[in-house]
Amino acid sequence: MISPESISLFLAEHYGLVAHAEPLAGEVDSNFLLHGENGSRWVLKIAPRGADTNLLMAQLLALQHCAAKAFPFVPQPVAARNGALLVDFPDPQGPRPARMLTYLPGTPLAHHRPASAWLLRHIGAFLARLDQALADFDHPALHRSGFLWDIRRAALVIHERLAYLPPALQAIVETIAERFTRYVAPWLEALPHQIIHQDANDYNLLVHNGNFTGLVDFGDMLHGPRVAEVAVAAAYALLDETHPLDKAAEVVAGYHTWTPLTAEELALLDDLIRARLAMSAAIAAERRHTQPDNPYLQISARPVHRALHALAEISHTAAQERLLRDCVLPGPRVHPVPHLRYPALLQKRRTLLGRNLSLHYRRPIHMVRAFGQYMYDAEGRAYLDCVNNVPHVGHNHPRVVAALARQATLLNTNTRYLYEPIVELAERLSAKLPDRLRVWFFVNSGSEANDLALRLAWTYTGQKDVLVLEGAYHGNLSSLIAISPYKFDGPGGQGAPPWVHKLPMPCAYRGIYRNEPNPARAYGDHARQVIARVQEQGRGIAAFIAEAMMGTGGQVVFPPGTLQEIYQAVREAGGVCIADEVQIGFGRVGTHFWGFETQGVVPDIVTFGKPMGNGHPLAAVVTTPEIAEAFHTGMEYFNTFGGNPVSCAVGLAVLDVLDEEGLQEHARVVGDHLKSLLWEIAKLHPLIGDVRGSGLFLGVELVRDPDTLEPAAEEAHALVEFARTRGVLLGVDGPFHNVLKIKPPLPFTQADAERLAEVIHAGLTSIEAKSLCRPRHEP
Ligand code: PMP
Repeated sequence: MISPESISLFLAEHYGLVAHAEPLAGEVDSNFLLHGENGSRWVLKIAPRGADTNLLMAQLLALQHCAAKAFPFVPQPVAARNGALLVDFPDPQGPRPARMLTYLPGTPLAHHRPASAWLLRHIGAFLARLDQALADFDHPALHRSGFLWDIRRAALVIHERLAYLPPALQAIVETIAERFTRYVAPWLEALPHQIIHQDANDYNLLVHNGNFTGLVDFGDMLHGPRVAEVAVAAAYALLDETHPLDKAAEVVAGYHTWTPLTAEELALLDDLIRARLAMSAAIAAERRHTQPDNPYLQISARPVHRALHALAEISHTAAQERLLRDCVLPGPRVHPVPHLRYPALLQKRRTLLGRNLSLHYRRPIHMVRAFGQYMYDAEGRAYLDCVNNVPHVGHNHPRVVAALARQATLLNTNTRYLYEPIVELAERLSAKLPDRLRVWFFVNSGSEANDLALRLAWTYTGQKDVLVLEGAYHGNLSSLIAISPYKFDGPGGQGAPPWVHKLPMPCAYRGIYRNEPNPARAYGDHARQVIARVQEQGRGIAAFIAEAMMGTGGQVVFPPGTLQEIYQAVREAGGVCIADEVQIGFGRVGTHFWGFETQGVVPDIVTFGKPMGNGHPLAAVVTTPEIAEAFHTGMEYFNTFGGNPVSCAVGLAVLDVLDEEGLQEHARVVGDHLKSLLWEIAKLHPLIGDVRGSGLFLGVELVRDPDTLEPAAEEAHALVEFARTRGVLLGVDGPFHNVLKIKPPLPFTQADAERLAEVIHAGLTSIEAKSLCRPRHEP
């Protein structure tokens, strides 16, 4: 036993520290949480007498290596007063090597069951990054042989301890060991090797407020097969979970999106996961006999037994399929994708398609597949997608793809027949909207939805004139170019037709009334003046159409209450209010499911598109029974593809995934984190004029001067090109083409947010170094 007095003396002498030591559990070391002054905390780890100091030193150097790469989420060694990382702790039987580490907040993942899918993805992604950080680290002591927990020794370790296991488990574990010898061991040596942590178990992974906060205990670190890193984490991620393989699959997918594993590595995952669980069961069973007094050694025994029994019921083929369900399988070897050579493809595209179909980037990217928040080009490069909002629940979400395929094999027809999916979708969507919005029309694109919304408004009010916001975009049909200042005021545009009236863009950052004491009221009054002018000409207002946060307009956020004011003015004039949710709907803004809710209004007509079908052409209009009734003039509304059963099945699957994966709340949490990271970066880069938005609908406005707000369009484009070289996809929008738009698929994780922030920081640093931007204040 180590006395509190001996720790106090030790800390005072070697670290100049006064702290209270609280014992922590541990397998090998005696661990203490040190509480210092002002709430500061550290961890003191005292190794057993005779511990291999070379090995301990190697672990400390690995942590320092991570620190040098500014790699967060792992503890850092704290040097003693004499600079040493390892210090002898005095013990009557002989000195014990001790080291001090920084403290990481959080409690073990094991106490956070069931774990959310995205938490596990984040953990997978973190481990991939940890391995990337460790890839160029090495130390002779970490080339360990005969280490108990080395997964390469699984068969031997299990066999030696079989007799300690309950009979029912013996058979299961023995089969695992046999498969390991036959199918795993012969391949393992040939797989990529590096220094790995090898023990991301559910007591070493820390979680706080649902977020991953760190990984501790580097005692099992060794030079070994990289795939063991993810296999060990996946093995413990599935403990005590109702759908264990789905949870393990999240860790695998998280890892694989950051560090694509080879086909050979992926093929061994199921066997490696089972082998690790079997090792854990066997080692714990033996220790129950040899060290009955150390409860920590039994901490995972029961859940591990349960998991082994549950997995024994699942075939290897089925398990592999589940584990890899979210992984883009690597390389043309697995899924050959025939493609045209790049120059030929570019040439054909240029000659065969209209020239006003633009391509992103100076050198356009040839994309061949995508998954989750990642896209992959023909050369196998992965890109973190921070800009495509259409694959809302993630590119190619398996649930959505399966729903599409299932319905396509059953029935695809039009609305002149009765079928369930269309009414089911209407019912499910109605449940997410205010009561008065309950009559549906399904269409194929946001443009079709907005065109129909205009027809509804025109018919209901008997008027023609429409109010729009400056910079707005509502679609590509003739009727919508006419109400989209983004188009009619842009290149090739012919200005507003006489029945279209612009209201100023109510941008909290740049808008004309931004400095008014009550900007919302000022925008409302402005609308009243415009309406009065229309009425003076003997005409009335049919509609006001707006997004509640403007997408194409430059990720614009309005002062609170603005839409309430404008809606009131429009309704007083007899017009209807149309909310365009084509970009911002379906939980993207995080705080609410619909954008209009953020402004506290209830529209008369709402239009939906892009995210609704996750990439499949599905869009809709909802309105009140009164407006729908007025539209029932005798003229049929028929839309060949709108509301077909396949599209509706897709729409239902999107709603299922949103609910089950908690993506709205996820968007809020990750979006808040990203926004705070971006504001941190803004302190370092004068180019950043504004960071705005909500959830995963964010904008970063670049300006050359914070007073004149001179737009930094060139810099914004340079930043987008820079990010591409770092494997990150971004876009630029806004009337001045100077707003970075951030609207990724919602599975985008905290780690992705951190990566994006790092890339923006690096990009701006490089742009500033090339002095593309002028100094903040010119003399
Ligand atoms: N409204 C808004 C707000 C949009 O952003 C868009 C598309 N960018 C549309 C309507 C038109 O949708 P679609 O391209 O599906 O016709």
